Amino acid sequence: MTDTATAESGYHLPLPRLRGLTAQWYDWIKQHELRFQRCDHCERWRHVPREVCPGCGSVDWAWQPSSGKGRIYSWTTVYRSLHPDFQDTPYAAVVVELEEGPRVMTWIVDRGPDDLEIDMPVRVVYDDVTPEVTLAKFRAGD
Ligand SMILES: [Zn+2]
Repeated sequence: MTDTATAESGYHLPLPRLRGLTAQWYDWIKQHELRFQRCDHCERWRHVPREVCPGCGSVDWAWQPSSGKGRIYSWTTVYRSLHPDFQDTPYAAVVVELEEGPRVMTWIVDRGPDDLEIDMPVRVVYDDVTPEVTLAKFRAGD
């Protein structure tokens, strides 16, 4: 996350570098679809995007749609950010585990750090932060 948004979008946090398989993942999110790679051979889901299945070594895979439903797997509350762009503290950096198995680092948009619980059900929401980039975030609820 190093490219900074342009001033006209109003978004001031770092943006992902849209390259390779990561760009493909964000292209689905921009269409408001959460998809992950799923191995054609052993059917294992995976994230972050990569060419080879970590389960069986197959290079055959496809982008498959996720339900967008998951649970909070873990989080940490940041009180003092080491990154100059993330000074609006405290905030929670959350790991959500999707129903299909992949885990993503994300935000919970409707709960503060003190209102999170392990295994709390969450659902994806899409935040169109710039004309080029949409981020997958989550809100509480089934
Ligand atoms: Zn596999």
